[in-house]
Amino acid sequence: MSTLVQDAIPVGLIEEIAVELNKKAAMAIPSDVMARFDQLIAQETEPLSLLVLEQIKANAELAIQSGRPMCGDTGLPRYYVKIGNEAPRIQGGMVAFENALRRAVAAVTKTLPLRPNRVHPLTRADHDNNVGMHAPEVTYTFEPDADWIDIIAVHKGGLFGSDYRMLFPSDGVKGIKRFFLDVVAEFNRRGLACPPSVVGIGLGGTKDTCFRLGKEAACLRYVPDRNPDPLVAELEEELTELGNRAGFGPMGFPGATAIAAVKIECAYAHTGGMPMSVHHFCHATRRAVVRIFPDGRHAYRDDPQWFTPYYRRNVVEW
Ligand code: SF4
Repeated sequence: MSTLVQDAIPVGLIEEIAVELNKKAAMAIPSDVMARFDQLIAQETEPLSLLVLEQIKANAELAIQSGRPMCGDTGLPRYYVKIGNEAPRIQGGMVAFENALRRAVAAVTKTLPLRPNRVHPLTRADHDNNVGMHAPEVTYTFEPDADWIDIIAVHKGGLFGSDYRMLFPSDGVKGIKRFFLDVVAEFNRRGLACPPSVVGIGLGGTKDTCFRLGKEAACLRYVPDRNPDPLVAELEEELTELGNRAGFGPMGFPGATAIAAVKIECAYAHTGGMPMSVHHFCHATRRAVVRIFPDGRHAYRDDPQWFTPYYRRNVVEW
């Protein structure tokens, strides 16, 4: 039976789903990342790094079994929302929708619990609920020929592993590799990015777009997928291999498995520059995805499907 109220998705349902979504994000490492842990365990030859990888996997399994967050630092909860062009309205509109998302973060912070990480940058005031000014962040995008709403919750570690550099076009792929290795070395030699990580790279765009895309590449690409542009896909593979030849294993120990994957997303840039951002999504790759259909049915899945052909569109008209 339809749960629609006056052709609108009930906002209470959105909140209920968002609570469940945040719980899943905090506790359950997605299946694609778990499968990648298995591959890294099979390929690591350093005994200490192998032990650490096995413990990371065991910890992830224990979190699911015991219903607890998989890291004591439960990161910074945030949302990515994709709205189908034909999706029904939400009861109370988008302001009610955002309130529901904020209430869900506050509720899960209390009940799961999540660590209340969000504080005012100067006063250090803490609302004890991970909600505050611009927290949790919500990023929106849209999808043609779709009547559903996707909500993705990401709880990302928020201290280390990200950097930005304005390269010149003449720096080329060599410059990209150099900056990538600089960032990998800087954070991984001290274990600061808690590897193995999915490394996202933003290439091009304005500075803010470059940073946003790199972070989305780290948090929202499905690990086994390939960028549809063969040139970019080849660079992703090359950088994964290069990063794992830099001498780092899990948590910065000597080894060859610090990089679970490299994902690159591009945006058109100023002709005089080639901005580049690098982001580590630590081994606590906490993301959860749900699709809500017009009749209120909803389905959880692991693949964010964030980078659709429409999202990467390269033409004037769609
Ligand atoms: S970087 Fe990730 S694994 Fe390390 S403490 Fe932070 S959330 Fe936990």
